[in-house]
Amino acid sequence: MSTPDPRGSTPSAGGPAPAAPRQRAEELRRLLSRAAHAYYVLDAPELEDPVYDRLYRELLELEQAHPALITPDSPTQRVGGTPAEGFSSVEHRIGLLSLDNAFNLAELEAWYGRLLKVLDREPAADAAPPALPMVGELKIDGNALALSYERGLLVRAATRGDGERGEEITANVRTIQSLPLRLQLENPPEWVEVRGEALIPDATFAAINAERQARGEAPFANPRNACAGTLRQLDPRVVAARRLDFFAYTLHLPDDWQPEGGGGAGGSGAGGEGRPADPPRPTSQWESLRWLQAAGFKVNPNAALLPDLAAVEDFFTHWDGGRRALPYATDGVVVKLNDLRLQDSAGFTQKAPRWAIALKYPAEEAPSRLLRLACQVGRTGVVTPVAEFEPVPLAGTSVGRATLHNADRLAELDLHAGDTIVVRKAGEIIPEVVRVLSELRPAGAVRLELPQVCPECGSELVREEGEAATRCVNSSCPAILRGALRHWVCKGALDVDGLGAKLIEQLVDRGLVASIADLYRLDGALLASLERMGARSAEKLVAALAASRAQPWHRQLYGLGIHHVGEVNAKALARAFPSAAELATASEATPEAITAVFGIGGEIAQSLQQWFATAANQQLLEQLERLGFALAAGPDERGGAAAGPGDGEAAPLAGRTFVLTGTLPSLSRSQAQALIEAAGGKVTGSVSKKTSYVVAGDEAGSKLTKAEGLGVAVLDEAGLRALLEPGAGP
Ligand code: NAD
Repeated sequence: MSTPDPRGSTPSAGGPAPAAPRQRAEELRRLLSRAAHAYYVLDAPELEDPVYDRLYRELLELEQAHPALITPDSPTQRVGGTPAEGFSSVEHRIGLLSLDNAFNLAELEAWYGRLLKVLDREPAADAAPPALPMVGELKIDGNALALSYERGLLVRAATRGDGERGEEITANVRTIQSLPLRLQLENPPEWVEVRGEALIPDATFAAINAERQARGEAPFANPRNACAGTLRQLDPRVVAARRLDFFAYTLHLPDDWQPEGGGGAGGSGAGGEGRPADPPRPTSQWESLRWLQAAGFKVNPNAALLPDLAAVEDFFTHWDGGRRALPYATDGVVVKLNDLRLQDSAGFTQKAPRWAIALKYPAEEAPSRLLRLACQVGRTGVVTPVAEFEPVPLAGTSVGRATLHNADRLAELDLHAGDTIVVRKAGEIIPEVVRVLSELRPAGAVRLELPQVCPECGSELVREEGEAATRCVNSSCPAILRGALRHWVCKGALDVDGLGAKLIEQLVDRGLVASIADLYRLDGALLASLERMGARSAEKLVAALAASRAQPWHRQLYGLGIHHVGEVNAKALARAFPSAAELATASEATPEAITAVFGIGGEIAQSLQQWFATAANQQLLEQLERLGFALAAGPDERGGAAAGPGDGEAAPLAGRTFVLTGTLPSLSRSQAQALIEAAGGKVTGSVSKKTSYVVAGDEAGSKLTKAEGLGVAVLDEAGLRALLEPGAGP
């Protein structure tokens, strides 16, 4: 999103009064408890996971700052959910905890610092922190299972439940092909407790949801919920049909267990004569994974032994890119201290081990608090409501503003002052406010609406029937004027260097410029007297303005900012109507000549007609002419016009077929297509021998390969632009 003019926003709601900590904690507790129930028990989440995580973190921080606010039923005081009904609940031999989260590398480093402190290994003042080997594992977005083996046989499988008691789901778990019903050991220990993640691969998840939808049932929100729902099926045949998978990651053995004939902790494990060796008792997490593998479990192949924190960061970054190619969902990596004795010394907090942390990938959704509703008045007078909120990190950037588009969207969101909102931004996508968490609304909050009058000039705002936009229709509104000036000097239009938004703001505010034409009456001395302007920059600006008179006619036309006349349409119109006078006459007298131009429809013709009929615009054109603007094509621009408006033969790309692939540096797909079509070319979706050109950008796919195979000419964006230049034929 481009940074909007700061002057274009005006508060229409006072800032929220921050809720008292007690009240906020209460609201958060209520919301999070309900969400946890929906998530853990009903397998139908009400909140997005990252939104839950952030609000959970907020509650945790509130409770840390005010310990008196902690209540025994706070979601921060328990692991997971309560065991669901329909299964018998069993007590775990060893409790199953949760994991603490780090949301970025700085939090990972802070965790490591705390760990060193607990282990009494803090470095001396200037020394580097000691490197403790760690194991990096993928954080698979499935469900933790506790498997109990006795004398090598699977006797019980349970969900995590509340960490102490889980649901007994042995019959269902026995259907998972990738876990052993009998450990592949010669002399299995009396008991073994294995923990790992049951999961549903993405492809199976999609199939299950398709089936559910076909039956008119609600789809599962994500693979983790689908997996939890499956594990709780009462009929093991249904579970078997869904083909769950399982990766083991934690091993518990009796304290005194050593393999028979084994050589002690970490020893060779060589068995007695003639017998295959059982693996030795592990002394590290890495050895535990190998032990599990030897006992017949599937261990995720992407785990890595990492010598220090820098290696952990590399592992995280590597999988941030690589995880999308995996056939199952992951939401981060889990980092575990490798040495089991050190793990013992570090111990646990109430909810999680101190020796492990889940490092989560950047979220694409987050909750935030609305600070104010701003209103931006654009150059066409359209008033856009913009939410300004506490900045949140989303998809790698900090986001603090999002457009709310129009009054309808604002009403639909039912936004109130001080609301907690859910904001989303994925990759390059423009941030949006998805919804409001009305449960967290401060008492007595005011509902927010667009103002009745323009925040810039105070004139009444107008919303025409059937239109989504609310507009300021005062043509001398300073916001509209500033927008019009910015547009006139922008790169695609007159391209005047040195006339930025700040300077335009000064010129308008001081009443020095009241129209585009006034720009050309500015003298150097006056400009030099303005803030942050020296004599040299003033002089340069006067020269740049003077030079801009020679810009081609289509750029001037685009610069006028006529509704619907963008760069592409301006080019097409300028080619067909080589002067403002001809275009004005056609707009009034022969609109059919306008719609005959390739790519120009009735809406544009009407917009042109309105624009040329407006007295203020006629005056502007007269003034510009008096100031030396030709407002017409020069002799070398007239080539295409000679054949007459709408004449396909005049179009430089007539008869040529194009295929677009990949991402071009500056043009979007639709812009490139519009440019090609405006020049008479055709854009198709697939490459054949008849294709004239393939225009390829970054990450071009199979179309490029095909073009190369067929010997079709390949262009980059610069090549395409060269073809589009007037006078350049293919
Ligand atoms: P968690 O999911 O953040 O971390 C613990 C879990 O990670 C373990 O129980 C295990 O199942 C899993 N895990 C995956 N790979 C692992 C590995 N290699 N080693 C160890 N563990 C591994 O914590 P949690 O206590 O299960 O629950 C919190 C999570 O549940 C959060 O991510 C939260 O977003 C989600 N949640 C969402 C809602 C909601 O409304 N959307 C509600 C409650 C909880």
